[in-house]
Amino acid sequence: MIIRCDLCPKRCLIEPGQSGECRIRVNLDGRLVAVTYGHPCTVHVDPIEKKPFFHFLPGSTSLSLATVGCNLHCKNCQNWEISQQNPEEVAASPLPPAEIPRLATYHSCRSVSYTYTDPVVYYEYTFDSSAFVREAGLKNALVTAGYINREPWTELCRRVDAVRIDLKALSDKFYQDICGATLQPVLDSLVTARSLGLHIEVINLLIPTLNDSDKEIGDLCQWTVRNLGREIPLHFSRFFPNYQMKNLPPTPTTALLRAREIAKSAGLYYVYLGNILVPDGENTFCPDCGDLLVERRAFEVLKNTVKNGRCPRCNFQIYGVWL
Ligand code: SF4
Repeated sequence: MIIRCDLCPKRCLIEPGQSGECRIRVNLDGRLVAVTYGHPCTVHVDPIEKKPFFHFLPGSTSLSLATVGCNLHCKNCQNWEISQQNPEEVAASPLPPAEIPRLATYHSCRSVSYTYTDPVVYYEYTFDSSAFVREAGLKNALVTAGYINREPWTELCRRVDAVRIDLKALSDKFYQDICGATLQPVLDSLVTARSLGLHIEVINLLIPTLNDSDKEIGDLCQWTVRNLGREIPLHFSRFFPNYQMKNLPPTPTTALLRAREIAKSAGLYYVYLGNILVPDGENTFCPDCGDLLVERRAFEVLKNTVKNGRCPRCNFQIYGVWL
């Protein structure tokens, strides 16, 4: 019997013994099974800044895990060795959901991040693990492209605390040509997460000639201000040639600096530059009085003066979940 997976907008029709597009959701005797459940291929302890989350438990570490598979097929994927492989091609070790909080606590992590590939495709593992993690008093963070249908997304959001969504471009053509996906579900996921009160940060990888014109950057910033709010942190990240996109050069520094100016002109309070070291690229300033609040360098927090979520000089409330 052919079955349909309704988890993401692809709504794959899956023949018996076959998998959907993400390679890990399989039709086993008429049952849809995520075959990587409880078997991450990657488990690391990372600074939370590496996700990147700059306004969520800054300076803490996060137990970061992933299984094989992804429902997008980005030509520039940095993790293609695990995202675009079949499960049997990548080594994985058992890690049941109930064990995750113990491991996180052992490594003094304040959170667990579901990351590297996309937690959307290993949904059930993320969903079950997040309940144990929350019960243990730790936080859950998703690092995702947000390409998922509304109902499962809403259910998952109720169990997690923070989402970092990759908004790749405000262009359906970009999503179709470069990622094998569509734009609107990603926008819907952002708005849903915001309406449910999750902590949100947005990242945009600037790829030369594909999504880096002033208009494209301006459109993305204005959409963010209008639909999420000017306090949502926006990270512009530097592209490096990779996977199926080795024909383009790295993003020039000037393009990243220009993107920051455009974002600030659009009214965004917190704009960061990643994968590159430039003055103030990772620093947080008070939007009201301009005081330097958090100084970072290469994912390390060097200074943090935020007190009870506020600027110590002018008392302005700084968006985020602060330690
Ligand atoms: S999650 Fe995977 S199997 Fe399900 S619809 Fe999306 S790509 Fe297809």
